[in-house]
Amino acid sequence: MNLDAQVSAREAAGYPPLRTYGVCRHLIGMWKRLGKLIPVGQRGRSPLYRWGDVLRVERDTRLRAGKSHRSAECRSCERASERCAA
Ligand SMILES: [Zn+2]
Repeated sequence: MNLDAQVSAREAAGYPPLRTYGVCRHLIGMWKRLGKLIPVGQRGRSPLYRWGDVLRVERDTRLRAGKSHRSAECRSCERASERCAA
């Protein structure tokens, strides 16, 4: 995919390698709140990010942590799946 492509958090989390490394859209939202990721646009209510920026932040945070991201530990995902199961 073009590094200049604009993607929403949900879209980005669905593509490899983010999907492979267990990045969920909540983690991407966290990067935005922390100022690691700056939105480059907006589609409806969703901020859009530059795909190349998302890849860079993913790589930086993963290398610093020394492990892959664990969306299994994401409380927001847990709550969402509980809602689906109910
Ligand atoms: Zn999540």
